[in-house]
Amino acid sequence: MRSISFTGLGGCNEVGRSSFLVDFGEKVLLERGIKLGPNGSEYPMPLETHVAAAIISHAHLDHSGTLPHLFAEGNVLSYMTAPTLDISRILWFDSLQIAGSESENVPFSKEMIESAARFTLPVSYGRKLDIAKNCSMRFFDAGHISGSAMVRLQIGDKSVLYTGDFKVEETRLYKGADMDVGDVDYLVMEATYGDRNHPPRKECEKLFIDEVKATIDRGGWAIVPAFAVGRSQEIIDVLCEYKIDVPIYLDGMGQKAALSMMKYPDNLKNPRFLQKALKKAIWVKSNSVRAKALKQPSVIVTTAGMVQGGPVLNYLKKLHNDEASSVLLTGYQVEGTKGRGLMETNKLEIDGKVYSVKAKVEKFDFSAHASQQEMLQAVKKWQPEKVLLVHGDKEVIQVFRNKIMEETGIDSIVPEAGKKIDL
Ligand SMILES: [Zn+2]
Ligand SMILES: [Zn+2]
Repeated sequence: MRSISFTGLGGCNEVGRSSFLVDFGEKVLLERGIKLGPNGSEYPMPLETHVAAAIISHAHLDHSGTLPHLFAEGNVLSYMTAPTLDISRILWFDSLQIAGSESENVPFSKEMIESAARFTLPVSYGRKLDIAKNCSMRFFDAGHISGSAMVRLQIGDKSVLYTGDFKVEETRLYKGADMDVGDVDYLVMEATYGDRNHPPRKECEKLFIDEVKATIDRGGWAIVPAFAVGRSQEIIDVLCEYKIDVPIYLDGMGQKAALSMMKYPDNLKNPRFLQKALKKAIWVKSNSVRAKALKQPSVIVTTAGMVQGGPVLNYLKKLHNDEASSVLLTGYQVEGTKGRGLMETNKLEIDGKVYSVKAKVEKFDFSAHASQQEMLQAVKKWQPEKVLLVHGDKEVIQVFRNKIMEETGIDSIVPEAGKKIDL
């Protein structure tokens, strides 16, 4: 059997536009993402080859965002879990819509989205599937968002584990990753938080709730920018658990994502509680409800999580001057995004105008990614022959690479975009 090679096409020394090619005579593509940054959309390097299969680990756009584009040239057999397909479709159509309203280019059409959906086989966790000559795949729950998967490829007598984005610790929504994946020869691992550990989730929830309560006591509004998939729903769940008794509004793409998540209750830890929490929240479906939300102090959970667009900007336009209110950021803020700027300078640009934000800005570490300690434990548990680090900022990856070296003696490989690595 031929040797195996790995080529990063995106997501190398960066978070965003993940896409990797595994070549063993036949070719398997892992991910086809997009990077939505301050300079608009950035895409992975062109594929320029036929692939036997494309595998998507989860629905976040940095992993799935440009899959439909592959269907411009022909059809590609694709594999992902059912929730990933469902949520990806929603996000793909949303990308088209946003591009349409901002006259930006998006590299695929409605027809390509439909082809992508038609040629995707939904695969459950644990099911072994032959996808190419000498190659089978298997998904394991990654504990990151609904339907998120780690992928184990068995290629001849060698195995490759690609973690996608994974989280080991339990959260209110998910049980955490299934780490019993069997033996691993080559490990391709995300390193988003390779340089730090997260506080225990419960602690983070409490800090967040304290800030919500303090805001309400001041007579202000708590604006909670949250990612559509997973984070919006988790925040609603936490607010319900701690019995916050002002109106709680859910605005933006988190609504559609919630409906999709509820179609797959098996992927959730406590679907009944989440359903109850979602029912208690007021779903903002019109501008009149949006106006109502601003009449009396409330909590508003809304996209976008990095404040890049979406309804959150409307709320901040109205409330930025209100010292009693707060902006509670709940996730990773990529460098150059409005959220990152807000966090570091208290300034926010909307439609070309720069606002000084007087509302209190706080960031909470609700991460859906493994911590440095968890990733190290994973390396120790799986004992791979080789480790490849992707999906992390350059400096963070270096910190983590040194840490792995120190603790296990393994010299990790850091793929560069476009450079082929023989495994
Ligand atoms: Zn993700
Ligand atoms: Zn990601």
